[in-house]
Amino acid sequence: MVMNATDVEAKVRELRERIRHHDHLYYVLDSPEISDHEYDALMRELRELEEKHSDLITPDSPTQRVSGKPAPAFGTVVHETPMQSLENAMTLEELQEFEERIRRKGISGPIEYCVEHKVDGLAVALTYENGTLTKGATRGDGVRGEDITLNLRTIKRIPLKLAGKPPGRLVVRGEVFINKDEFKRLNEERAARGEPLFANPRNAAAGSVRQLDARITASRKLDLFVYSADWPDMKLAAHSEVLQRVRSFGLHTNPRNEVVPDLSVAMELCRRTQESHQEIPYETDGMVLKVNSLNLQKTLGATSRAPRWAIAYKFPPAEAVSTVRDILVQVGRTGALTPVASLDPVEVDGSTVSRATLHNEDEIRRKDVRVGDTVVVRKAGMVIPEIVAVLPEKRTGRERTFEMPTRCPVCGSEVEREKGEAVSRCTGAGCPAQLKERIRHFVSRRAMDIEGFGDKLIDRLVDEGMLKSAADLYHLIAEDLVALERMGKTLAAKLIRHVDESRDRPWNRALFGLGIRHVGEHTAQVLSRRFPSIEPLSSATIEELTRIPEIGPEIALSIRLFFAQEGNRKILDQLMKAGVRLRESSEEFRETPRAGNLEGRQFVLTGTLSSFTRDEASEKIQARGGRVTGTVTRKTDYLVCGENPGSKYAKARELGVRILSEEEFLALLENA
Ligand code: AMP
Repeated sequence: MVMNATDVEAKVRELRERIRHHDHLYYVLDSPEISDHEYDALMRELRELEEKHSDLITPDSPTQRVSGKPAPAFGTVVHETPMQSLENAMTLEELQEFEERIRRKGISGPIEYCVEHKVDGLAVALTYENGTLTKGATRGDGVRGEDITLNLRTIKRIPLKLAGKPPGRLVVRGEVFINKDEFKRLNEERAARGEPLFANPRNAAAGSVRQLDARITASRKLDLFVYSADWPDMKLAAHSEVLQRVRSFGLHTNPRNEVVPDLSVAMELCRRTQESHQEIPYETDGMVLKVNSLNLQKTLGATSRAPRWAIAYKFPPAEAVSTVRDILVQVGRTGALTPVASLDPVEVDGSTVSRATLHNEDEIRRKDVRVGDTVVVRKAGMVIPEIVAVLPEKRTGRERTFEMPTRCPVCGSEVEREKGEAVSRCTGAGCPAQLKERIRHFVSRRAMDIEGFGDKLIDRLVDEGMLKSAADLYHLIAEDLVALERMGKTLAAKLIRHVDESRDRPWNRALFGLGIRHVGEHTAQVLSRRFPSIEPLSSATIEELTRIPEIGPEIALSIRLFFAQEGNRKILDQLMKAGVRLRESSEEFRETPRAGNLEGRQFVLTGTLSSFTRDEASEKIQARGGRVTGTVTRKTDYLVCGENPGSKYAKARELGVRILSEEEFLALLENA
């Protein structure tokens, strides 16, 4: 279609409005509604129109600056040099075009690149003065960012004081991100608390860093890769040398960065990483190619938006288009009803997707998903597939809107939605769907880890009335399974053995397995350290519970309600009679900070403690029978970690050595 001048102007205006709307959702509300790819496509469309009709370019067009506004809750930091965006390449051919543009500046011969992962997190700038961290800011709109110094100071990977001989004033830029494992843990925890889940690791990282309460940031395992730095008189020739120098100051850079001799090798690296990036422990959405020579970088310079010496190659998204056949409702272990879209099977990122979560009623309304709709489905690595957006132009008028049922689709009990909650719940105490989910949770790997009890087997056992609670697992005999599932005797015996072995699972995991609402893995761990067994926990008052840091009134109330229910008390009783150890073992007891003394325990100290010097700390440990050594090994029991810890911290994490904060260390001393 040929557009006339008025059409073009209207289209440009519309694109700008849409982009600004999505910027606001993304940067200010942390709640994007479209995928990065869709966003990039909008930007690209606008940029192309503006290139053809340069008279339409206005200074406030989103193409003329990096998107994003600082949220008003934080102070504002003006960046000394703007934090720019990166040019994007959607295909490998576009990387070649990028190099051709460089060549047009009269550059010949092979060009060396530093190829880096485009880590999906939050860009930050850190300022060090005389080696001390004085300021930390988000990118914001590139010129002005938010002052998040307090939050960034809680991230262990960010040194408060630099090592070596740093310049008097140093500004580094990098990406704060969260590993996939930590992301999963965070979301499981949020699910257990009935809180909305983070859509992806980037939102989790951004949401964690932009917390008004820095303690929340501190409780999450955030990481940082520094990807650029600048200081006066640096006298270095290449970007890779800058990163190397920065590393010598104790700042973390990505060990996966590669310097390659020319574009063909860079492209090969992009191709290979694209195939395997799902296995990398953090989320990446592409690769960044940076001209390595600083001289050449200077020659090439930058546009108002992005440097001309770098480009981001974006991996194709794990998205596909499908049709919603139906919207079903699943009943979870706490009775929560989750609407799930049943889709025409579609290939996304190498696997077939036929279901996608719609989270809750409000989410369906917000996205306006109807049965019969054509939708964009996304699979972000480890996250359950979800519907990103509806394509309204594909509607025929025969689509059907979804209504949350007023009765549980499984047991017929009434459905309730509490005020202020997004979730609707089945109120049926004996709902078999809830029971099945509770048992699935109980046997799951991170709880009692009872292998072999898959979804189908649990369904059958519940449907046949053989499991009325998780405790009934311990009364099953091999013959039951053989008769029910026509299972081989050897396999049946093996499953029963798995059940038997689970009686001795650690106390915190058994507690997590009980499936108390709001008690996720981490909270179970916190509780298990305070209460040596189920008895004192079951009689703890709300006041006692809320005195524990990290246990808020909502969790405390939910624990009280759990133990107040006759049915739950009966199950606990049965579990104990069946020999399930709902208490800590003597070994665990020694490992917890409530230990009677420190006899035979090995300590290593790192970082600066605020209460005393290292010598004083060593004396205190020794006075209680403990030993202090200089290196972290497998034999080390505790690493006491002060401010600005050294490499011992990484070593301890690698070996799984228990790391104590100063506060935990003080508690340990006090109790010993
Ligand atoms: P964009 O947001 O698409 O304009 O891309 C620029 C952003 O990419 C930066 O602000 C960083 O947040 C991010 N990024 C991630 N990894 C890197 C890297 N290795 N080098 C430069 N930028 C990176």
